[in-house]
Amino acid sequence: MATKVYDVIVVGTGAGGGTAMKILCEAGLQVCAINSGPRTDPSEDYRLHRQVYDLKYRGYGNPLRLEGKSHQEPYSVEESEYSEGRDLFEHDVAYSNAPGTDWYWKRCKATGGKTNFWGRSSARFGDIDFKAADLDGFGETWPVDYAEIAPWFSKAERYMGVASTIQNRPSNPDGEYLPAMPWRCIDYIIQKGAEKIGVPYLPDRCAQLTVEHNNHPACHYCGNCSRGCDVGSFFSPTWFTIPEAEATKNLTLLTNALVRAVITDENGMAKGVAYVDRTTRKEVEVYAKVVVLAASCVETAHIMLNSKSQHWPTGIANSSGQLGRNLCDHLYGCPGYGYLPHLLGQPASPDNIADSTVAWAPRWQNLKNPTEEKFIRGYSLYIGGGCGEFPGYYGQIEGFGSQYKRDIKRYYPTPIGALIQAPSLPSPTNYVDIDSDKKDTFGIPQLRFHFQWGSNELLMWQHSKQVMVDLFKAMGGEMWGMDDEPNRPGTSLHETGVCRFGNDPNTSVTNKWAQTHDVANLYICDASIFPNCTDKTTTMPIVAFAMRNCDHMLDNFKKGVHTRA
Ligand SMILES: Cc1cc2nc3c(=O)[nH]c(=O)nc-3n(C[C@H](O)[C@H](O)[C@H](O)COP(=O)(O)OP(=O)(O)OC[C@H]3O[C@@H](n4cnc5c(N)ncnc54)[C@H](O)[C@@H]3O)c2cc1C
Ligand code: SF4
Repeated sequence: MATKVYDVIVVGTGAGGGTAMKILCEAGLQVCAINSGPRTDPSEDYRLHRQVYDLKYRGYGNPLRLEGKSHQEPYSVEESEYSEGRDLFEHDVAYSNAPGTDWYWKRCKATGGKTNFWGRSSARFGDIDFKAADLDGFGETWPVDYAEIAPWFSKAERYMGVASTIQNRPSNPDGEYLPAMPWRCIDYIIQKGAEKIGVPYLPDRCAQLTVEHNNHPACHYCGNCSRGCDVGSFFSPTWFTIPEAEATKNLTLLTNALVRAVITDENGMAKGVAYVDRTTRKEVEVYAKVVVLAASCVETAHIMLNSKSQHWPTGIANSSGQLGRNLCDHLYGCPGYGYLPHLLGQPASPDNIADSTVAWAPRWQNLKNPTEEKFIRGYSLYIGGGCGEFPGYYGQIEGFGSQYKRDIKRYYPTPIGALIQAPSLPSPTNYVDIDSDKKDTFGIPQLRFHFQWGSNELLMWQHSKQVMVDLFKAMGGEMWGMDDEPNRPGTSLHETGVCRFGNDPNTSVTNKWAQTHDVANLYICDASIFPNCTDKTTTMPIVAFAMRNCDHMLDNFKKGVHTRA
């Protein structure tokens, strides 16, 4: 029997891979999408309006559920008793941390990836980000500018549905928005305080449907988003790109297929991928004319570093030596939390029903002059609070018995907390490589992280703590405290850089269309191509760049650079 050859293989079905396979299938190409874990089924895997008291372990899950797994650490937020039992998260494939590194690598292996549970904050990058190196002299200028990518941001926003307002901020280009999410009482109080200290507090750009959009229903504000939306009222591949790609009948979707490597022909070009079938534990090869990697940033680098051959002794398309380098992340942490005494004893209001970043403080530092502050670039803050699902402030209140319960209720509308989103800068000591001493349970050499926060992001962290002290004062709030240390690297899930794009093949892994310089039929559709983090999140840009890169690939098919199978 002749061996099947697809037009394109897409590895990963999250924000990047899902977008790629939809576009390529709709263009008529025969696509094989390969996904590491099982297929997500919202009717079994999502929270579906269950309350914590409906669950045996009150949402925390069976403490013994990871016994015997290679990677036993549970993942915060996204992994809980709601999604337990269907094996959606990666605990079979272990990874290593070099001495002194404490990277927290959270992976959703089910179809749709982390985009099933993401936070939906969706700001555009701007020239202040793309040209930051020209402004402050640090790092690499991106190979695209705002004028070039803006139409693709619009296309991504129109497809995904992003709610916000026009704000005319120098650090945040405006986009094409659905009506913004209504504000809560706390947002107005925070905004007034923030104004007094010169900090903007504005509606976030949130990919959550405030109105019906492209046949997806408007949000019904049940507050379940981080455990999966039961009706598809925010952008996720499960509700958007996967069904649309399947509707074309051009998609073959392989699940429980863990890609180990890109395989190459006698000229070093990609001819397919080798994956381990998780059920049989056997290695299988699939062939295509073009391969797209979208396994989520560091895993894309992992696959490429493991794709060694006579042509590519240090990993496929690594003639620049930049593969795995320039690992960046958002420093996360809480620089201040407390409460608003003016709301004590007020009736409860449904403040958490949108479960989203309703508002944020977009970057306000170093806007007029790139070196106004002690640090370069800038950070943003998410501030939220009010009546949550669970009174997380219980530890701040002293007491016992019924008086304690009354106090918990009195404080219920009042708590406020902040989260800093500070971009790390590329550093030669922050990278991933292969831990050649260790193999995972499937025999694949493990990925190893080398990462420390740098002085620039730690200065932002200190700065944000003072901002929160000032903000609480300006709001008339009382501060309960702040985190001593930032969260572990990896927590934000916004890592970038390990396959950075650029115009110079000597210093970058791909060209500006995310096509690797060395291997013309190998493309990348995730955040690994972004040379560094900005103060904004990555998912909407991943979708926008994937749309643009696939459009370029389709042109290459038309021009004969790639031939169809
Ligand atoms: C709780 C939470 C909140 C978040 N908040 C935000 C936010 O507000 N804004 C924002 O922009 N982003 C946010 N993110 C991050 C966002 O989810 C990611 O940026 C986005 O999912 C990345 O898309 P991706 O396609 O690169 O990866 P993913 O969505 O993770 O998809 C990766 C895919 O690759 C597959 N895969 C991985 N390895 C292999 C392999 N070896 N072989 C085969 N398949 C493989 C996986 O199964 C998966 O389908 C959040 C994430 C979480 C979990
Ligand atoms: S709040 Fe809206 S988007 Fe979130 S899970 Fe509920 S319906 Fe879906």
